[in-house]
Amino acid sequence: MLSETYKAVYNSYPDGVLLVDHAGAVVQANQRAEKMFGFDEAELLGKQVESLIPADYAERHKKNREEHQKNSKERMMMGDRVLKALRKDGSVFFAEISLSPLDIGNEKLTAAFVRDVTIRESLESRFHKMIGDVQDYAILFLDSEGKVTNWNKGVERIIGYSEDDIILNNFRVLYSEYDQEKNIPQTDLDTALECGRAENEGWRIKKDGSLFWASAIITAIKDEPGNVIGFSLVIRDLTERKKSEEVLRKHSEALLAKNKELESFAYIASHDLQEPLSTIKGMIELIRHENQMPLGEETESYFSFIEEAIERMNTLIRGLLDYSKLGRNKELKKVKVAETIREVLADLNTRIQAEEASFIVGPMPELTVYSVEFRLLFQNLISNALKFSRPGIPPQIVIISKNEGPHWRFSVQDNGIGIHKSHQEKIFTIFQRLHKPTQYPGTGIGLAHCKKIVEMHEGSIWVESDSDEGSTFHFTISKTLKRAAAPAGVEV
Ligand code: ADP
Repeated sequence: MLSETYKAVYNSYPDGVLLVDHAGAVVQANQRAEKMFGFDEAELLGKQVESLIPADYAERHKKNREEHQKNSKERMMMGDRVLKALRKDGSVFFAEISLSPLDIGNEKLTAAFVRDVTIRESLESRFHKMIGDVQDYAILFLDSEGKVTNWNKGVERIIGYSEDDIILNNFRVLYSEYDQEKNIPQTDLDTALECGRAENEGWRIKKDGSLFWASAIITAIKDEPGNVIGFSLVIRDLTERKKSEEVLRKHSEALLAKNKELESFAYIASHDLQEPLSTIKGMIELIRHENQMPLGEETESYFSFIEEAIERMNTLIRGLLDYSKLGRNKELKKVKVAETIREVLADLNTRIQAEEASFIVGPMPELTVYSVEFRLLFQNLISNALKFSRPGIPPQIVIISKNEGPHWRFSVQDNGIGIHKSHQEKIFTIFQRLHKPTQYPGTGIGLAHCKKIVEMHEGSIWVESDSDEGSTFHFTISKTLKRAAAPAGVEV
């Protein structure tokens, strides 16, 4: 029946080929078909094709075959569905079969091309099962118009539509009326068409009409030549996250408002306190002036106490005023940090000489910062490193920087008296000091200033230290400060 050449081609064909007569008997099979069905050479000949199909499907197959014989146009059997086929040993495999009618002489034959697609099929069915079983994501398949063609269990869990709900005919129903009026569903599909995918978050509607915060990804599905044949839509319910974000946002807004209020209060209080203080000072001078004769030793010492107290209070009030004003006119500027440190050291030169302090300053970056406040930060830390030295031990101060991804970290290390672990938090609070002014002078405002300045730079400040072990103050500064940042400080 076949020439040698055709026979060779026929046998090397990657699909199994069966020639079947009008009664459904195999009259010819290539070697691939024999191997696929597990028969020895020529064993297939004369077999009814239905014997190559599991019994449950054989009857239906027979009907299909007879139907096919009546309508002899070439076609794929059972559309895009795949048949189960039976091997000689009784095992089953998935076969994709296409049929072609052949008229040879008076004989009406059918050529069946059989491809073993078991691996593809089991992968696909596993994939579909996997998607179907996913509960945390609602996964929907849409046609090119947005009509829902398929969806998984997650849709029922998240959005409330069960498998046989016909209401979910178009994914538009998931959008609010307002969004639908603004044609948002179509815009989302258009974006996915244009860019391959569209990602968005927003309030969507469940079957029962309640709202949920959805994070959705629409992806265009294309066929081989690249035509869009539909979309996949994957939805996650992030309502809980959205709610906690809302709560957090409200808290932080309330906190900001409270902070502003406090700063405002500090500003007004310190501003207004100055006035009665100068009145007291003026009155004392007046008393001195009016009483020409000496006041007596005791009275003089009382007056000195009052004057010292006034001076101390004045310093505190000025400190408080400075603290509340800090950052009110802040301005972002690119600075060479090495230059800033050089200037601070020059300003502190007299003290540096007196204390015989030595410095090591590592390589420093160029950085955009609130330059005035940034300089004050270094000034406070270096001046503390000089001040809190151990008696008789000249201060040795090391200043370094480290590039740490989104921010720069700076460290100021000294060999001074150190800070006990239990005090390392409270020293950043305003007016908190660990020593008497007679021991180490100061107001307890410096580190509170530092904290405020660092926060203005979207960073944090902390200390590593222990008693008698020196201290290292670390602080971070964001690399991406924006000019648009809301101004700190108070409106008075
Ligand atoms: P002040 O220096 O005016 O006391 P600060 O706010 O600058 O106020 O510091 C608060 C306290 O933290 C200081 O009183 C001191 O006890 C401690 N402190 C700050 N810097 C150092 C340092 N480098 N070494 C040891 N203790 C320090």
